[in-house]
Amino acid sequence: MGVVGCGIVGAMVAYELSRCPGLAVTVLDQQLPGQGATGAALGILMGVISQKTKGRNWRLRDASLRRYQTLLPELETLTGLTIPHNRQGILSLCTDAEALPRWQSLQSRRDRQGWPLEIWSAQQVQAACPHVDGTGLVAGIYSPCDRQIRPKP
Ligand SMILES: Cc1cc2nc3c(=O)[nH]c(=O)nc-3n(C[C@H](O)[C@H](O)[C@H](O)COP(=O)(O)OP(=O)(O)OC[C@H]3O[C@@H](n4cnc5c(N)ncnc54)[C@H](O)[C@@H]3O)c2cc1C
Repeated sequence: MGVVGCGIVGAMVAYELSRCPGLAVTVLDQQLPGQGATGAALGILMGVISQKTKGRNWRLRDASLRRYQTLLPELETLTGLTIPHNRQGILSLCTDAEALPRWQSLQSRRDRQGWPLEIWSAQQVQAACPHVDGTGLVAGIYSPCDRQIRPKP
């Protein structure tokens, strides 16, 4: 099996394929594996907090979130490297009161799907994150299970 391009996407595709017994995987890249990967990324995995709730787009996010829980320790063990990442989740600041019903509906949906999503008042946001400018803040959408990898060391 050949994988052309060994940035983050090609490397992960190749890694997951390499776990299939009996499958030989070859990566082709103009540079050494991983060395040509772009640093243009925030490294954020937005699954629970995304507005995708069904279909392929949601299934891939759901599967990725579940896989991250095993993938990071697995890669750290294999490589002996520490992968800097944020396990504290993502807080999205909401300044539009009209958007709140949409977030509440997403929260109910995620609850049924087994993923936590919290809607904080502006006061709760300020208490938890006093460095955040609260001007115009209506609420904070806190997703404890979304993740962020530091894209470049
Ligand atoms: C500002 C910014 C923020 C982003 N934030 C996020 C984020 O928070 N979360 C997220 O999921 N995504 C984010 N993205 C998107 C993310 O960066 C990309 O989807 C991802 O990094 C692309 O990885 P890749 O492996 O496909 O490509 P690349 O990392 O570009 O790797 C491509 C590989 O192909 C090789 N290659 C290219 N041409 C050839 C050739 N002709 N022959 C052989 N090899 C070749 C290169 O050497 C390289 O190794 C962001 C993007 C930007 C611009």
